[in-house]
Amino acid sequence: MLLKEEREQIVKYGKIMIDRKLTVGTFGNISVYNRDLDLFAITPSGFDYYNTNPEDCVVLKPDGTIVEGERKPSSEVDMHRIFYQRKDNINAVVHTHSVYATTLACLGWSVPQLHYLVAYSGSEVPYIPYVQFGTYELAEACYDAMGDNRACILGNHGLLATGKNLPYAMDVAEQIEFCCQLLYNCRAAGKEPILLTDEEMAVVRSGFGDYRKS
Ligand code: 13P
Ligand code: ZN
Repeated sequence: MLLKEEREQIVKYGKIMIDRKLTVGTFGNISVYNRDLDLFAITPSGFDYYNTNPEDCVVLKPDGTIVEGERKPSSEVDMHRIFYQRKDNINAVVHTHSVYATTLACLGWSVPQLHYLVAYSGSEVPYIPYVQFGTYELAEACYDAMGDNRACILGNHGLLATGKNLPYAMDVAEQIEFCCQLLYNCRAAGKEPILLTDEEMAVVRSGFGDYRKS
């Protein structure tokens, strides 16, 4: 079986995504890229995360050709592979329908630098207006909006998070969800949050590389 370790990691993190309430039901999707083999594994479309086994994941080339797998790959496969084709520092992509990120997605809000953890995305979390799910157009729109950021709010849909590996990409999804909740809470309190400066955020980003210990 190709990409056995990557498939096992995807299954493990699918359950983590559900346990941490980062998505709802079968929605959202996860992929991991093996840069040496130039192949990635992705969750099957429409599968319950607790009923997904490593062999249900699908292995593809970054050009979208299926190499191994019986199942239909995630409908958002383009939104994953576009990063493997174009970015040499992204090896995992996580798409979620977490509640606060999706609330902002429905309100049309991006996330400004209201907490230092926005550094998980970069300098901000951009927002893109609604594009039909499962389309190459959606993949291109979020790729273009993200620039050097690692997350994007998908209008009337959810969140996209990326990273150098899957633990990191899931951290991005979880911490940006936290920041989305903070923004919602601040505005629900009738106030705009106090924002961090670009200089303050640059200092945070420079220390982030060695934060995660396990
Ligand atoms: P898949 O089950 O096809 O991955 O789709 C879920 C989803 O979130 C679509 O945007
Ligand atoms: Zn979705």
